[in-house]
Amino acid sequence: MVLAQLSRSISRAMQQMNNTTVVDEKVLNDCLNEISRALLQADVQFSMVRDMQTNIKKIVNLDDIAAGHNKRRIIQQAIFNELCKMLDPGKPLFTPMKGKSSVIMFVGLQGSGKTTTCTKYAYYHQKKGWRPALVCADTFRAGAFDQLKQNATKAKIPFYGSYMESDPVKIAGEGVERFKKEDYDLIIVDTSGRHKQEAALFEEMRQVAEITKPDLVIFVMDSSIGQAAFDQAQAFKQSVSVGAVIITKMDGHAKGGGSLSAVAATKSPVIFIGTGEHMDEFEVFDVESFVRRLLGLRDWSGFMDKIHEVVPADQQPELVQKLSERTFTFRLMYELLQNLMKMGPVGQMLSAFGAEVMPKGQEKESQAKFKRYMTIMDSMTDAELDSTNPKLMNESRIIRIARGSGRTVQDVMEMIQLYKMFAKNLSKTMKGLKVPKKGGMNA
Ligand code: GDP
Repeated sequence: MVLAQLSRSISRAMQQMNNTTVVDEKVLNDCLNEISRALLQADVQFSMVRDMQTNIKKIVNLDDIAAGHNKRRIIQQAIFNELCKMLDPGKPLFTPMKGKSSVIMFVGLQGSGKTTTCTKYAYYHQKKGWRPALVCADTFRAGAFDQLKQNATKAKIPFYGSYMESDPVKIAGEGVERFKKEDYDLIIVDTSGRHKQEAALFEEMRQVAEITKPDLVIFVMDSSIGQAAFDQAQAFKQSVSVGAVIITKMDGHAKGGGSLSAVAATKSPVIFIGTGEHMDEFEVFDVESFVRRLLGLRDWSGFMDKIHEVVPADQQPELVQKLSERTFTFRLMYELLQNLMKMGPVGQMLSAFGAEVMPKGQEKESQAKFKRYMTIMDSMTDAELDSTNPKLMNESRIIRIARGSGRTVQDVMEMIQLYKMFAKNLSKTMKGLKVPKKGGMNA
């Protein structure tokens, strides 16, 4: 998971505060020190961490909080607000619109994950009903076109490039012109990330921009550089008008917090983060949702986004209604798994419930397991499927279901365990079914 270590440390600090009987100065200081330590370990700049701590202490004056007010909640809200402030890079300058050709130019240093990210960006939008197309204007790196072609073919996205032409400006111009004529609504241009000299790289970027007239320039950056992200983001911003940033490799590096906060400090909006090599490992970056997860709070917006992505529009109200009724049946679990599996890796969404059912790197195994559970549920009777009481599943029923589905008793027991975990976490998550207001924590 994204910044798993940072999130674990911060949520542990919050949990410790929540477990104390009396919230006094010492408890507050311990909690803030613990959070600061975690942020520094994630390479967040010292001055930012110090300012955050000072601001929270200014806002939360324990002596002044009237009796009856929930001190923990006030502290939590202050921490939430300060972390959001630290990571909020502002809003993107341009948002593409369906049905109208937009040119999106990707820039960034070689190895940052630019080519991979171009395809992830195209694929993400394709799933949402857009018509994306890819143009490879990186003629410097041998194999760049092959890589883009391979990724694009896998995702069934049209592409344009050349093995013969060495002028990236010419290719970019031709590719954009062709896809505009063919009415693609998202024309993505991948540019070179390296040159003999830095000045030549920036000059080439400017020329490609001049011919393609991008509506948005996206700067792609590797999170492992931590605080150094500030200088890199500034350098690109000064050479070409960067409208948004995508930070990659947030899965593998302890410095993710540093790069996020450093980019935010340059006031460049981060729109997505890359969380793995796979095409699906790509998340919309929303500060509030991200901070909610860092604090170990349930991430409502992530959950609702996934529901909107995977469940057909006409079935959404019904599913949300059923979930909100808090009568979580085996049948509902079946429906939920069925919908979520359409999305590929579902671990990200399940983590919204605090469910550690799908450890990173084991998504494929877990998906196979879910498929198995669905086969098992196919052998359950209607009464069993519509029951909310796992105790109904006695020994003889379990043996019958195992035989009927061709699975082991152990598999059936595991499926019932998953049901119990879902039922417990979902009922908590869905309580009252209130999506948090902007700026709310939904603790
Ligand atoms: P480019 O030179 O900037 O075009 O970079 P590439 O797209 O070729 O990516 C460089 C390497 O980073 C490849 O091995 C990618 O699979 C890998 N990569 C890209 N994005 C991510 C990410 O979000 N997480 C991880 N773990 N690897 C990534």
